Amino acid sequence: MNNRFIPVNTPLLSGNEKKYINECIDTGWISSEGPFVERFEADLSRIVNRKYGVAVSSGTAALDIAVEALGIGKGDEVILPTFTIISCIHQIIRSGATPVFVDSEPITWNMDISQIEDKITKRTKAIMVVHIYGLPVDIDPVLKLARKYKLKIIEDAAEMIGQTYKGKPCGSYGDVSIFSFYPNKHITTGEGGMVVTNNNELAKKCQSLRNLCFQKKQRFVHKELGWNYRMTNLQAALGLAQLEQLDKFVEKKRKMGKFYTDSLKEMKQIQVPLEETSYAKNIYWVFGIVLKNNAKNNAKKIMGQLQELGIGTRPFFYPLHLQPYFKNKFAFYRDSYPVSENMSQMGFYLPSGLNLSSLQIENICNHLKSIFI
Ligand SMILES: *Cc1c(COP(=O)(O)O)cnc(C)c1O
Repeated sequence: MNNRFIPVNTPLLSGNEKKYINECIDTGWISSEGPFVERFEADLSRIVNRKYGVAVSSGTAALDIAVEALGIGKGDEVILPTFTIISCIHQIIRSGATPVFVDSEPITWNMDISQIEDKITKRTKAIMVVHIYGLPVDIDPVLKLARKYKLKIIEDAAEMIGQTYKGKPCGSYGDVSIFSFYPNKHITTGEGGMVVTNNNELAKKCQSLRNLCFQKKQRFVHKELGWNYRMTNLQAALGLAQLEQLDKFVEKKRKMGKFYTDSLKEMKQIQVPLEETSYAKNIYWVFGIVLKNNAKNNAKKIMGQLQELGIGTRPFFYPLHLQPYFKNKFAFYRDSYPVSENMSQMGFYLPSGLNLSSLQIENICNHLKSIFI
């Protein structure tokens, strides 16, 4: 590996990050009790049009809390895409509820919303909507189904900070919506996440669940079990500084996406991300590509060749219904979700971090093209 290796992601820490973190150190406020936590919660929830924000230690933690706060448990079913990160399913499984999968849509890579209604049963309690890679799910028809069948919506907007659907922020649509601030997300706190909602009861429940369900009057007497999923003041300081730059970051991601698209869209062997739909313009959380079937290749092979050329990549998600963990517990693997299966075989993403230069993108595209000649 040469020293000019281009990693798949590097974060951009170009604003007040150092200043705010120094403030934490100077004042001694480093735990979750520090003032940046509430400021970060207030600012982010305002930006995404929500009344309440509950900062937590990761996006995964936010999903755990969201599922638990909605009271999902044994006997309940939750509909979600099979093509997503494992985080979406942890608490559904642990609570004893049953996940019910839908396949993906081959052009937007999001869950195929036309498959949802057939999967609704008397046991269905919620639909988990997961926006994938840069374009939001067409969520209005899903909200309509939720109203019709009285279901809750959990909106996973981890990859959509700063994105909108029909002009309104992603993260403003779920009964609870969640974000992640892992370093490859649009804004980062190192590790971190947030649950946002307009419902005061749910917000209180989430606050309690992230903090071990301590009680106000009798702190160490517990009526319920929660988690220690608190976010520290240091993380929130980083988050606040990042949030100040969100518009700039989104603009940069879109520019990077356009640069990649212009360089690669003539290539017959690959599918590039859809640039826009009637409801949103791609934000390119990552720049994914899917090899076409006639490419006589698979993602793994091409990723290996790019690695040799000094370019870091990441495979697409591996479908949940095929996860080895479930193999001896559930029979999900017997079902077929051909679009998701193909995407996981043929899809991967190119370097997409905010620190990437256009020269590097040019380089990456040239190398990719050279592989197919
Ligand atoms: C990143 C991500 C998560 C998990 O967030 P972490 O902070 O890494 O735990 C959940 N859902 C989606 C769609 C993600 O992309």
